[in-house]
Amino acid sequence: MTLSVQQHRLSLSMALCLLLAACSGPQDVRESRFIMGTLVQFTVAGVEKDKALDAIRAAADEMQRIEDDFTIYGTHANAVKAFNASTPGQTVSLPAGVDDLLRMARDVAHQSGGAFSPVIGSLSLLWGFSLPEAPASPPSDDAIARARSGSDIGKLVMAQAGWKRLSNQTMLDFGAIAKGYAIDRGIDVLKKHGIANAILDAGGDLRMIGDHQGKPWRIGLRHPRKPGATLGWFEASGDISIVTSGDYERFFIYQGRRYQHILDPATGMPAGLSSSATVITAANATLADAWSTALFVLGEKGVPLVGAQGMQALLVDADGVLHQSKLTLLPFHPSTQ
Ligand code: AMP
Ligand code: MG
Repeated sequence: MTLSVQQHRLSLSMALCLLLAACSGPQDVRESRFIMGTLVQFTVAGVEKDKALDAIRAAADEMQRIEDDFTIYGTHANAVKAFNASTPGQTVSLPAGVDDLLRMARDVAHQSGGAFSPVIGSLSLLWGFSLPEAPASPPSDDAIARARSGSDIGKLVMAQAGWKRLSNQTMLDFGAIAKGYAIDRGIDVLKKHGIANAILDAGGDLRMIGDHQGKPWRIGLRHPRKPGATLGWFEASGDISIVTSGDYERFFIYQGRRYQHILDPATGMPAGLSSSATVITAANATLADAWSTALFVLGEKGVPLVGAQGMQALLVDADGVLHQSKLTLLPFHPSTQ
């Protein structure tokens, strides 16, 4: 078939119209903020830029408030630091938000057999992975034993009027759960601003809602040993959380051995069974965060435990072998590199 110049122009402009119609919705709006020691990336789809930016600003402010309320670092005074300085045996009443998250954290501590502990603060401060000056060598065995003596969940007691710590080595540390909680609160704020399609990604820990211009969001999972490479990917739409704990996030090498920031409360030493632990669940990034840390500590035997909680587990062990739970909410597509 031959076309006259005019017909040709017409079909060209029609094709252009169709193309424009396909992408005539508003562009994605992306913004980043540095919160909780990590770059938090917001992607909002399907709404006008001003509306998206207002929502993102409000969500980021809320996440910053959560960091301020829960951190045990820096000079900002908060109830968590006050608890950590309280007299052992004395009951301290905690603000509702802290009390709620601590109850959740205590439940995961029990369900994970102590692999996750929200009272690991003395050990975290001793190892110093989250201090401004990164450590370069491990602490002494004596110092580890002392800090470890307070890190067992049994050393934290819930009383009628609050909580008490039984030892001056028992210190709260929400580092393994507060980021997930902040993500959940950030998503709540986005939803209240009328956002239905978004990803809130806090350094690889994320929750997504809705979809991307009518198609599923596509999420890559970082390779624990190849910087910049992915281990594989997921496709998802709806309200899903994907949270990963990895030994590549904060670590040092000392005398040929890797020391990383996720500690085994039973030994006081960096957990050595895993290199990357991912938990996937509907909606709840708080629980996914707590359980990804527990899974990292437990290694392969944690995989069915996470499955029994109704969540999906994906674990790369210390030898690089991939283990997955029977329960699959999202199929995992391994990269072919
Ligand atoms: P995540 O990256 O979510 O696995 O959290 C790691 C952070 O949680 C560390 O930087 C510590 O502050 C804290 N943490 C380390 N080990 C544990 C543990 N076994 N249970 C609870 N919190 C931990
Ligand atoms: Mg965690």
